[in-house]
Amino acid sequence: MTKILNLPGVIVEESLETESTIILSVTVNNKTAVCPRCGQTSRHLHQNKTHLVRDLPITNREVILKVNRRLFKCEGCKKNFSEILDFVEIRKNFTQRYAQSITEQVINSDINNVARNNKLTDEQVESMVMAAAKSVMKIELAQLFRLVISCCAFK
Ligand SMILES: [Zn+2]
Repeated sequence: MTKILNLPGVIVEESLETESTIILSVTVNNKTAVCPRCGQTSRHLHQNKTHLVRDLPITNREVILKVNRRLFKCEGCKKNFSEILDFVEIRKNFTQRYAQSITEQVINSDINNVARNNKLTDEQVESMVMAAAKSVMKIELAQLFRLVISCCAFK
């Protein structure tokens, strides 16, 4: 499953499959994390914190990652921090590559259709387009506004 998931540095520890959904418990193959405040590398695990994240479908089944975003205690500034994961931003419930794929679909279609095809709400699709535009794809802002405005206009 780790191989099929194909996220660098991420290991699948457990998988649960139903007819329509695959739930993968994943962890990062790294014992340490870097403090975003002071840059110190910390190996002092404070707490495990799992949350659910939507990822690209596998063989037409929706994929939910159970991500353990570990909480570390920094040995430098003594504050707690959540580790940075490069495949999912903090407080997001979708992976960056999923947001990217949804955004590509929106470019070739529209938000309402993409939402329906992927069993998402319009709001979820919009927030993925925003996230992808900001971090991964660097879509031109003008194009992005057109997408959002054209969606809102038809509501
Ligand atoms: Zn620190």
